[in-house]
Amino acid sequence: MRPMHFAIIGAGMAGLACADGLQTVGHRVTLFDKGRGPGGRMSTRRLETPHGTVAFDHGAQYFTARDSCFLQLVRAWSEAGIASPWPLAGADAWVGVPGMNEVVKRMAAEHTVEWDHLVTSLARKEASWWLTGKRGEAGPFDAVVLAIPAEQAVAILALHDFAMGRTALTARSQPCWTGMFAFHRPLDGLAPVFRNAGDIAWAARNSAKPGRARGEAWVVQASGSWSSHWLEASPQHVSAMLLAALAQAAGRAIPEPIAAAAHRWRYALSPGTGDGALWNDEIALGACGDWLLGPRVECAWISGRMLAMRCADLARLPGPQITPPPVRFRRPKVSPPPAPKVRLMPSACHVRSHEIASDSMLGKEISHEKYD
Ligand SMILES: Cc1cc2nc3c(=O)[nH]c(=O)nc-3n(C[C@H](O)[C@H](O)[C@H](O)COP(=O)(O)OP(=O)(O)OC[C@H]3O[C@@H](n4cnc5c(N)ncnc54)[C@H](O)[C@@H]3O)c2cc1C
Repeated sequence: MRPMHFAIIGAGMAGLACADGLQTVGHRVTLFDKGRGPGGRMSTRRLETPHGTVAFDHGAQYFTARDSCFLQLVRAWSEAGIASPWPLAGADAWVGVPGMNEVVKRMAAEHTVEWDHLVTSLARKEASWWLTGKRGEAGPFDAVVLAIPAEQAVAILALHDFAMGRTALTARSQPCWTGMFAFHRPLDGLAPVFRNAGDIAWAARNSAKPGRARGEAWVVQASGSWSSHWLEASPQHVSAMLLAALAQAAGRAIPEPIAAAAHRWRYALSPGTGDGALWNDEIALGACGDWLLGPRVECAWISGRMLAMRCADLARLPGPQITPPPVRFRRPKVSPPPAPKVRLMPSACHVRSHEIASDSMLGKEISHEKYD
């Protein structure tokens, strides 16, 4: 067994699933995430109101668990009290408890994660990887995995593996503007969950989810075409428009919210390339994430897991027992280091999905039914 030290860029569901799998077979993992805390697109956002803090799941609303391994994990989360079925959204819909980010928080607690650490580039020096980012350089690592949205991965990947970069380039994401509104009293005339009402793709009373604090808190997610049209609008303007759309769906005037905000998910939903995960054996570089399978939490987990399974084989390759050196962090240099030369390397392995059908609907709008 030859344990390797992996750097995983992105500590969302895919990156953490990959980290879990790698750690299980004896590899060492350090994750880097630009966020200040766990969640990624499964984040929970808090707003202050005169009645106290109100939480909103402003990314993923729920998740399904059909893959048998993922279902096993979700059941374990359920037994631990951090996930619960949510039948209002569907027969096999689950949510994190008390917030969607709880399961990611639990997964992240098992690993070394460098939060608030934006990675901007990679350099390969003497068969080792070094990461450059907001907090200087970090390394050396034996292998690197990118577990970030395709649009953010492409610039980093393309410099080291042209084929992977090209795959990421084809995976265009659909944006999603999300409004969050708290009211001092329950709104009349609205079902606790509804879809496809005018410009609204999905709206839910957040407090209708299991394990949430009481209070009238609504999450309103705009359709992909609406979000694309208003992509560069100000959050204030978008918040006002989504509030008006909610009133229109209610068919009556609604009270002024006691707190309101809008969040733009620029890279919200990717149809999925169908590759599952990407790995280049020669330079020990890989990629995982929902964009390789489909726009769902479960797809992100499966993608991360697939990559870990592929890399588990590396541990079984004959080789000397190596005690990996500690990760060193270097302060940013005054002048940036020269960019690494472009190397065209064929990807040695493109793991393909076998269980989950790819959501290859490039160019078409992704509706909320895609999560079902
Ligand atoms: C509005 C919205 C609604 C959704 N609704 C649902 C739903 O109801 N059901 C469902 O199943 N799925 C839903 N999804 C999709 C689901 O959230 C994603 O498929 C899943 O969370 C993706 O996980 P991931 O790990 O691939 O990516 P992410 O969760 O995006 O994780 C990537 C991580 O990488 C970090 N990062 C990015 N770039 C860098 C960098 N350069 N350096 C360091 N860190 C970096 C980010 O901070 C992030 O934490 C929704 C998504 C959105 C946005």
